[in-house]
Amino acid sequence: MKNSQEIIDQTQEYGAKNYHPLPVVISHAEDVWVEDPEGNRYMDMLSAYSAVNQGHRHPKIIEALKQQADAVTLTSRAFHNNQLGPWYEKICKLTNKEAALPMNTGAEAVETAVKAARRWAYDVKGVAENKAEIIACEGNFHGRTMTAVSLSSEEEYKRGFGPMLPGIKLIPYGDIDALKAAINENTAGFLFEPIQGEAGIVMPPEGFLKEAFDLCKENNVLYIADEIQAGLGRSGKLFACDWEGVTPDILILGKALGGGVFPISCVVANKDILGVFNPGSHGSTFGGNPLACAVSIASLDVLEEEQLADRSLELGNYMMEELKTINNSRIKEVRGKGLFIGVELTESARPYCEKLKERGLLCKETHENVIRFAPPLTIQKEDLDWAIGHIKEVLEA
Ligand code: PLP
Repeated sequence: MKNSQEIIDQTQEYGAKNYHPLPVVISHAEDVWVEDPEGNRYMDMLSAYSAVNQGHRHPKIIEALKQQADAVTLTSRAFHNNQLGPWYEKICKLTNKEAALPMNTGAEAVETAVKAARRWAYDVKGVAENKAEIIACEGNFHGRTMTAVSLSSEEEYKRGFGPMLPGIKLIPYGDIDALKAAINENTAGFLFEPIQGEAGIVMPPEGFLKEAFDLCKENNVLYIADEIQAGLGRSGKLFACDWEGVTPDILILGKALGGGVFPISCVVANKDILGVFNPGSHGSTFGGNPLACAVSIASLDVLEEEQLADRSLELGNYMMEELKTINNSRIKEVRGKGLFIGVELTESARPYCEKLKERGLLCKETHENVIRFAPPLTIQKEDLDWAIGHIKEVLEA
Protein backbone atom coordinates (compact mmCIF):
# COMPACT_ATOMS: atom_id res chain seq x y z
CA MET A 1 0.00 0.00 0.00
CA LYS A 2 1.19 3.52 -0.77
CA ASN A 3 2.13 5.75 2.16
CA SER A 4 0.39 9.04 2.90
CA GLN A 5 2.90 11.22 1.07
CA GLU A 6 2.75 9.06 -2.04
CA ILE A 7 -1.03 9.24 -2.06
CA ILE A 8 -0.99 13.02 -1.59
CA ASP A 9 1.54 13.35 -4.45
CA GLN A 10 -0.62 11.19 -6.71
CA THR A 11 -3.69 13.25 -5.83
CA GLN A 12 -1.81 16.46 -6.57
CA GLU A 13 -0.47 15.11 -9.84
CA TYR A 14 -3.74 13.94 -11.36
CA GLY A 15 -6.51 15.80 -9.56
CA ALA A 16 -8.13 19.11 -10.41
CA LYS A 17 -7.10 21.61 -7.74
CA ASN A 18 -10.56 22.56 -6.55
CA TYR A 19 -9.86 21.71 -2.89
CA HIS A 20 -7.15 22.51 -0.37
CA PRO A 21 -7.26 19.59 2.09
CA LEU A 22 -5.21 19.25 5.24
CA PRO A 23 -2.25 16.92 4.53
CA VAL A 24 -3.79 13.81 6.05
CA VAL A 25 -4.88 10.65 4.23
CA ILE A 26 -7.71 8.64 5.73
CA SER A 27 -7.69 4.96 4.91
CA HIS A 28 -9.88 3.58 7.67
CA ALA A 29 -12.66 4.94 9.88
CA GLU A 30 -14.88 3.81 12.70
CA ASP A 31 -17.40 5.98 14.54
CA VAL A 32 -15.55 9.18 15.54
CA TRP A 33 -12.06 7.84 14.81
CA VAL A 34 -10.18 7.75 11.52
CA GLU A 35 -6.75 6.34 10.67
CA ASP A 36 -4.08 7.03 8.07
CA PRO A 37 -2.09 4.32 6.23
CA GLU A 38 0.72 4.63 8.82
CA GLY A 39 -1.73 3.78 11.59
CA ASN A 40 -1.95 7.29 13.10
CA ARG A 41 -5.34 7.81 14.70
CA TYR A 42 -7.36 11.03 14.56
CA MET A 43 -10.70 12.16 15.88
CA ASP A 44 -12.97 13.45 13.14
CA MET A 45 -14.28 16.84 14.24
CA LEU A 46 -15.79 17.68 10.85
CA SER A 47 -17.96 14.64 10.09
CA ALA A 48 -17.64 15.25 6.34
CA TYR A 49 -19.46 18.56 6.71
CA SER A 50 -22.17 16.86 8.81
CA ALA A 51 -22.74 13.92 6.49
CA VAL A 52 -21.45 11.51 9.14
CA ASN A 53 -23.77 12.51 12.00
CA GLN A 54 -24.36 8.80 12.73
CA GLY A 55 -20.60 8.11 13.04
CA HIS A 56 -18.36 6.50 10.44
CA ARG A 57 -19.56 3.12 9.17
CA HIS A 58 -22.35 2.70 11.67
CA PRO A 59 -22.84 -1.10 11.82
CA LYS A 60 -26.57 -0.90 11.22
CA ILE A 61 -26.15 1.29 8.16
CA ILE A 62 -23.34 -0.86 6.76
CA GLU A 63 -25.50 -3.95 7.28
CA ALA A 64 -28.32 -2.32 5.31
CA LEU A 65 -25.84 -1.43 2.55
CA LYS A 66 -24.52 -4.99 2.35
CA GLN A 67 -27.93 -6.59 2.35
CA GLN A 68 -29.18 -4.27 -0.34
CA ALA A 69 -26.01 -4.71 -2.40
CA ASP A 70 -26.79 -8.42 -2.48
CA ALA A 71 -30.33 -7.78 -3.73
CA VAL A 72 -30.56 -4.91 -6.24
CA THR A 73 -28.64 -1.61 -6.45
CA LEU A 74 -30.07 0.35 -9.37
CA THR A 75 -33.21 0.15 -11.43
CA SER A 76 -33.53 3.75 -12.62
CA ARG A 77 -36.97 5.24 -12.27
CA ALA A 78 -38.11 3.54 -15.45
CA PHE A 79 -39.28 0.81 -13.06
CA HIS A 80 -40.35 0.69 -9.44
CA ASN A 81 -37.98 -0.66 -6.82
CA ASN A 82 -38.96 -2.19 -3.50
CA GLN A 83 -36.98 0.24 -1.31
CA LEU A 84 -38.30 3.54 -2.65
CA GLY A 85 -41.86 3.19 -1.32
CA PRO A 86 -40.72 2.43 2.25
CA TRP A 87 -38.23 5.30 2.08
CA TYR A 88 -40.94 7.75 0.88
CA GLU A 89 -43.14 6.77 3.77
CA LYS A 90 -40.27 7.02 6.28
CA ILE A 91 -39.12 10.49 5.21
CA CYS A 92 -42.66 11.87 4.91
CA LYS A 93 -43.63 10.62 8.38
CA LEU A 94 -40.40 11.97 9.88
CA THR A 95 -40.92 15.42 8.38
CA ASN A 96 -44.70 15.42 8.60
CA LYS A 97 -45.03 16.17 4.90
CA GLU A 98 -47.12 14.56 2.18
CA ALA A 99 -44.51 13.93 -0.52
CA ALA A 100 -40.80 13.64 -1.21
CA LEU A 101 -38.51 13.74 -4.24
CA PRO A 102 -35.15 11.99 -3.93
CA MET A 103 -31.95 13.15 -5.62
CA ASN A 104 -28.29 12.37 -4.88
CA THR A 105 -26.33 15.43 -3.78
CA GLY A 106 -27.29 18.49 -1.81
CA ALA A 107 -26.85 20.83 -4.77
CA GLU A 108 -29.25 18.73 -6.84
CA ALA A 109 -31.84 18.92 -4.08
CA VAL A 110 -31.46 22.71 -4.05
CA GLU A 111 -31.95 22.69 -7.83
CA THR A 112 -35.08 20.63 -7.32
CA ALA A 113 -36.44 23.04 -4.71
CA VAL A 114 -35.82 26.05 -6.95
CA LYS A 115 -37.50 24.32 -9.89
CA ALA A 116 -40.47 23.35 -7.70
CA ALA A 117 -40.81 26.90 -6.38
CA ARG A 118 -40.63 28.44 -9.85
CA ARG A 119 -43.18 26.07 -11.33
CA TRP A 120 -45.42 26.53 -8.30
CA ALA A 121 -45.22 30.29 -8.84
CA TYR A 122 -46.47 29.92 -12.41
CA ASP A 123 -48.95 27.09 -12.03
CA VAL A 124 -50.39 27.83 -8.60
CA LYS A 125 -49.63 31.41 -7.60
CA GLY A 126 -50.20 32.84 -11.07
CA VAL A 127 -46.91 34.70 -11.60
CA ALA A 128 -46.43 35.90 -15.19
CA GLU A 129 -44.24 33.68 -17.38
CA ASN A 130 -40.50 33.88 -16.67
CA LYS A 131 -40.97 36.49 -13.93
CA ALA A 132 -40.62 34.26 -10.85
CA GLU A 133 -38.09 35.39 -8.26
CA ILE A 134 -36.28 33.54 -5.50
CA ILE A 135 -35.04 35.51 -2.52
CA ALA A 136 -31.89 34.11 -0.89
CA CYS A 137 -29.45 35.33 1.76
CA GLU A 138 -25.99 36.83 1.53
CA GLY A 139 -23.33 34.46 2.80
CA ASN A 140 -25.35 31.40 1.80
CA PHE A 141 -23.95 28.11 0.62
CA HIS A 142 -26.31 25.98 -1.41
CA GLY A 143 -23.75 23.98 -3.40
CA ARG A 144 -21.78 24.28 -6.62
CA THR A 145 -24.16 23.84 -9.54
CA MET A 146 -25.00 26.86 -11.69
CA THR A 147 -28.21 27.52 -9.75
CA ALA A 148 -26.38 27.23 -6.45
CA VAL A 149 -23.54 29.55 -7.44
CA SER A 150 -26.03 31.97 -8.99
CA LEU A 151 -27.61 32.17 -5.54
CA SER A 152 -24.25 32.89 -3.92
CA SER A 153 -22.86 36.25 -2.83
CA GLU A 154 -19.32 34.87 -2.89
CA GLU A 155 -17.36 36.20 -5.87
CA GLU A 156 -14.90 33.31 -5.89
CA TYR A 157 -17.75 30.79 -6.24
CA LYS A 158 -18.96 32.62 -9.36
CA ARG A 159 -15.88 34.01 -11.07
CA GLY A 160 -15.54 32.82 -14.65
CA PHE A 161 -18.77 30.84 -14.60
CA GLY A 162 -21.21 33.45 -15.92
CA PRO A 163 -23.78 34.16 -17.07
CA MET A 164 -25.58 33.53 -13.81
CA LEU A 165 -29.20 32.42 -13.47
CA PRO A 166 -31.61 35.37 -13.42
CA GLY A 167 -34.55 35.82 -11.06
CA ILE A 168 -32.54 35.85 -7.84
CA LYS A 169 -32.54 38.56 -5.17
CA LEU A 170 -30.22 38.57 -2.18
CA ILE A 171 -30.89 40.08 1.24
CA PRO A 172 -28.57 40.36 4.25
CA TYR A 173 -28.93 37.19 6.32
CA GLY A 174 -31.36 37.67 9.19
CA ASP A 175 -32.66 41.08 8.05
CA ILE A 176 -36.44 40.90 8.26
CA ASP A 177 -36.95 44.42 6.89
CA ALA A 178 -34.84 43.58 3.85
CA LEU A 179 -36.94 40.47 3.31
CA LYS A 180 -40.11 42.52 3.56
CA ALA A 181 -38.76 45.01 1.02
CA ALA A 182 -37.61 42.27 -1.37
CA ILE A 183 -40.95 40.43 -1.57
CA ASN A 184 -43.19 41.38 -4.48
CA GLU A 185 -45.95 39.77 -6.54
CA ASN A 186 -43.37 37.71 -8.45
CA THR A 187 -41.70 36.18 -5.40
CA ALA A 188 -41.90 32.40 -5.58
CA GLY A 189 -39.92 31.53 -2.48
CA PHE A 190 -37.55 32.56 0.24
CA LEU A 191 -34.60 30.15 0.38
CA PHE A 192 -32.35 30.14 3.44
CA GLU A 193 -30.21 28.05 5.75
CA PRO A 194 -31.55 28.17 9.32
CA ILE A 195 -27.88 28.19 10.37
CA GLN A 196 -25.29 29.13 7.75
CA GLY A 197 -22.69 26.37 8.02
CA GLU A 198 -20.14 27.25 5.35
CA ALA A 199 -20.36 30.93 6.23
CA GLY A 200 -18.88 29.98 9.61
CA ILE A 201 -21.78 28.70 11.76
CA VAL A 202 -23.70 31.95 11.46
CA MET A 203 -27.12 32.18 13.08
CA PRO A 204 -29.82 34.73 12.29
CA PRO A 205 -31.08 36.95 15.13
CA GLU A 206 -33.46 35.10 17.41
CA GLY A 207 -37.01 35.34 16.11
CA PHE A 208 -35.99 35.80 12.48
CA LEU A 209 -36.97 32.30 11.35
CA LYS A 210 -40.49 32.73 12.75
CA GLU A 211 -40.91 36.32 11.54
CA ALA A 212 -39.75 35.33 8.06
CA PHE A 213 -42.18 32.41 8.13
CA ASP A 214 -45.08 34.72 9.02
CA LEU A 215 -44.06 37.17 6.32
CA CYS A 216 -43.95 34.39 3.72
CA LYS A 217 -47.40 33.18 4.78
CA GLU A 218 -48.87 36.69 4.55
CA ASN A 219 -47.49 37.10 1.04
CA ASN A 220 -48.08 33.63 -0.43
CA VAL A 221 -44.33 33.02 -0.69
CA LEU A 222 -42.84 29.54 -0.20
CA TYR A 223 -40.63 29.24 2.87
CA ILE A 224 -37.77 27.00 1.74
CA ALA A 225 -35.27 25.72 4.31
CA ASP A 226 -31.96 24.27 3.21
CA GLU A 227 -31.28 21.93 6.15
CA ILE A 228 -28.68 19.91 4.26
CA GLN A 229 -26.00 20.70 6.84
CA ALA A 230 -27.91 21.98 9.89
CA GLY A 231 -30.68 19.37 9.81
CA LEU A 232 -30.97 15.76 10.96
CA GLY A 233 -29.88 16.34 14.52
CA ARG A 234 -26.82 18.49 13.96
CA SER A 235 -28.16 21.62 15.68
CA GLY A 236 -29.54 19.79 18.72
CA LYS A 237 -33.04 19.46 17.26
CA LEU A 238 -34.14 17.14 14.46
CA PHE A 239 -34.33 20.22 12.21
CA ALA A 240 -32.80 23.61 12.90
CA CYS A 241 -36.15 25.28 12.06
CA ASP A 242 -37.57 23.45 15.11
CA TRP A 243 -35.70 25.97 17.26
CA GLU A 244 -38.38 28.49 16.34
CA GLY A 245 -41.22 26.02 15.90
CA VAL A 246 -41.64 26.59 12.18
CA THR A 247 -42.29 23.96 9.53
CA PRO A 248 -40.98 24.96 6.10
CA ASP A 249 -43.14 24.61 3.00
CA ILE A 250 -40.16 22.99 1.32
CA LEU A 251 -37.49 21.19 3.32
CA ILE A 252 -34.21 20.31 1.61
CA LEU A 253 -32.15 17.47 3.08
CA GLY A 254 -28.91 15.71 2.16
CA LYS A 255 -25.63 14.68 3.78
CA ALA A 256 -26.62 12.68 6.92
CA LEU A 257 -29.71 11.43 5.06
CA GLY A 258 -27.32 8.76 3.76
CA GLY A 259 -25.39 8.35 7.03
CA GLY A 260 -22.10 9.18 5.31
CA VAL A 261 -22.37 5.83 3.55
CA PHE A 262 -24.19 6.54 0.31
CA PRO A 263 -25.23 9.84 -1.29
CA ILE A 264 -28.91 10.70 -1.12
CA SER A 265 -30.66 14.04 -0.88
CA CYS A 266 -34.26 15.09 -1.17
CA VAL A 267 -36.92 17.73 -1.16
CA VAL A 268 -40.02 17.19 0.98
CA ALA A 269 -43.18 19.27 0.79
CA ASN A 270 -46.92 18.90 0.60
CA LYS A 271 -48.67 17.79 -2.56
CA ASP A 272 -49.88 21.26 -3.51
CA ILE A 273 -46.20 22.08 -4.09
CA LEU A 274 -44.50 18.85 -5.21
CA GLY A 275 -47.55 18.09 -7.31
CA VAL A 276 -46.24 20.60 -9.86
CA PHE A 277 -43.87 17.92 -11.16
CA ASN A 278 -45.26 15.57 -13.77
CA PRO A 279 -43.50 12.71 -15.62
CA GLY A 280 -40.75 14.19 -17.75
CA SER A 281 -40.37 17.44 -15.81
CA HIS A 282 -37.56 16.40 -13.47
CA GLY A 283 -35.52 13.39 -12.44
CA SER A 284 -32.20 11.66 -12.00
CA THR A 285 -30.92 8.22 -13.07
CA PHE A 286 -29.68 7.46 -9.56
CA GLY A 287 -32.35 9.43 -7.65
CA GLY A 288 -34.32 7.06 -5.42
CA ASN A 289 -32.09 4.07 -6.17
CA PRO A 290 -32.67 1.08 -3.89
CA LEU A 291 -29.18 1.14 -2.37
CA ALA A 292 -29.53 4.79 -1.34
CA CYS A 293 -33.05 4.22 -0.03
CA ALA A 294 -32.07 1.19 2.07
CA VAL A 295 -29.08 3.05 3.50
CA SER A 296 -31.19 6.14 4.16
CA ILE A 297 -33.89 4.21 6.02
CA ALA A 298 -31.22 2.69 8.27
CA SER A 299 -29.56 6.11 8.72
CA LEU A 300 -32.84 7.67 9.84
CA ASP A 301 -33.55 4.70 12.12
CA VAL A 302 -30.17 5.23 13.81
CA LEU A 303 -30.86 8.93 14.19
CA GLU A 304 -34.14 8.16 15.97
CA GLU A 305 -33.13 5.07 17.96
CA GLU A 306 -29.96 6.66 19.32
CA GLN A 307 -31.70 10.00 19.91
CA LEU A 308 -28.86 11.77 18.19
CA ALA A 309 -30.55 15.18 18.20
CA ASP A 310 -30.82 15.04 22.01
CA ARG A 311 -27.20 13.91 22.33
CA SER A 312 -26.17 16.78 20.08
CA LEU A 313 -28.01 19.25 22.28
CA GLU A 314 -26.64 17.96 25.56
CA LEU A 315 -23.05 17.46 24.44
CA GLY A 316 -23.12 20.63 22.35
CA ASN A 317 -24.21 22.76 25.29
CA TYR A 318 -21.44 21.21 27.37
CA MET A 319 -18.78 21.75 24.70
CA MET A 320 -19.86 25.33 24.10
CA GLU A 321 -19.60 26.18 27.80
CA GLU A 322 -16.15 24.62 27.97
CA LEU A 323 -14.93 26.46 24.87
CA LYS A 324 -16.24 29.75 26.25
CA THR A 325 -13.88 29.41 29.23
CA ILE A 326 -10.82 29.58 26.94
CA ASN A 327 -8.78 32.63 27.67
CA ASN A 328 -7.42 34.00 24.41
CA SER A 329 -7.82 37.54 23.13
CA ARG A 330 -7.70 36.21 19.56
CA ILE A 331 -11.06 34.50 20.04
CA LYS A 332 -13.78 36.82 18.80
CA GLU A 333 -16.76 34.57 19.43
CA VAL A 334 -17.78 31.02 20.28
CA ARG A 335 -21.20 30.30 18.80
CA GLY A 336 -23.46 27.56 17.55
CA LYS A 337 -26.25 25.19 18.44
CA GLY A 338 -25.83 21.57 19.47
CA LEU A 339 -22.62 19.99 18.21
CA PHE A 340 -22.42 22.61 15.46
CA ILE A 341 -19.96 25.05 16.92
CA GLY A 342 -17.84 27.78 15.39
CA VAL A 343 -14.92 29.49 17.08
CA GLU A 344 -14.29 32.77 15.30
CA LEU A 345 -10.78 34.15 15.61
CA THR A 346 -9.33 37.54 14.81
CA GLU A 347 -6.76 35.77 12.62
CA SER A 348 -6.49 32.83 10.22
CA ALA A 349 -7.89 29.58 11.60
CA ARG A 350 -5.77 27.33 9.37
CA PRO A 351 -2.63 27.24 11.61
CA TYR A 352 -4.84 26.20 14.54
CA CYS A 353 -6.38 23.41 12.47
CA GLU A 354 -2.86 22.27 11.56
CA LYS A 355 -1.82 22.27 15.24
CA LEU A 356 -4.95 20.36 16.21
CA LYS A 357 -4.13 17.81 13.52
CA GLU A 358 -0.71 17.30 15.09
CA ARG A 359 -2.55 16.37 18.29
CA GLY A 360 -4.88 13.95 16.54
CA LEU A 361 -7.91 16.17 15.99
CA LEU A 362 -9.20 16.81 12.50
CA CYS A 363 -11.12 19.98 11.86
CA LYS A 364 -11.25 22.42 9.01
CA GLU A 365 -11.28 26.17 8.93
CA THR A 366 -14.25 27.76 7.26
CA HIS A 367 -14.25 31.27 5.87
CA GLU A 368 -10.65 31.94 6.80
CA ASN A 369 -10.98 32.63 10.50
CA VAL A 370 -13.58 30.25 11.89
CA ILE A 371 -12.77 26.79 13.25
CA ARG A 372 -15.80 24.54 12.90
CA PHE A 373 -16.31 21.79 15.47
CA ALA A 374 -18.89 19.24 14.32
CA PRO A 375 -18.02 15.73 15.52
CA PRO A 376 -20.26 12.75 14.78
CA LEU A 377 -23.29 12.97 17.10
CA THR A 378 -22.45 9.50 18.42
CA ILE A 379 -19.36 10.85 20.21
CA GLN A 380 -18.86 9.64 23.79
CA LYS A 381 -18.47 12.17 26.59
CA GLU A 382 -14.92 10.90 27.43
CA ASP A 383 -13.85 11.37 23.82
CA LEU A 384 -15.33 14.84 23.74
CA ASP A 385 -13.47 15.69 26.94
CA TRP A 386 -10.25 14.47 25.37
CA ALA A 387 -10.88 16.74 22.38
CA ILE A 388 -11.82 19.74 24.51
CA GLY A 389 -8.58 19.31 26.49
CA HIS A 390 -6.50 19.53 23.31
CA ILE A 391 -8.54 22.39 21.87
CA LYS A 392 -8.02 24.38 25.08
CA GLU A 393 -4.28 23.75 25.05
CA VAL A 394 -3.91 24.70 21.38
CA LEU A 395 -6.06 27.80 21.64
CA GLU A 396 -4.48 28.97 24.90
CA ALA A 397 -0.88 28.43 23.72
N1 PLP B 1 -26.58 23.28 1.13
C1 PLP B 1 -25.88 23.37 2.27
C2 PLP B 1 -26.46 24.14 3.41
C3 PLP B 1 -24.63 22.77 2.39
O1 PLP B 1 -23.94 22.89 3.52
C4 PLP B 1 -24.13 22.04 1.29
C5 PLP B 1 -22.80 21.39 1.37
O2 PLP B 1 -21.95 21.73 2.16
C6 PLP B 1 -24.89 21.96 0.11
C7 PLP B 1 -26.12 22.59 0.08
C8 PLP B 1 -24.39 21.21 -1.09
O3 PLP B 1 -24.39 19.84 -0.87
P1 PLP B 1 -23.54 18.88 -1.82
O4 PLP B 1 -22.10 19.18 -1.56
O5 PLP B 1 -23.94 17.49 -1.39
O6 PLP B 1 -23.94 19.19 -3.22
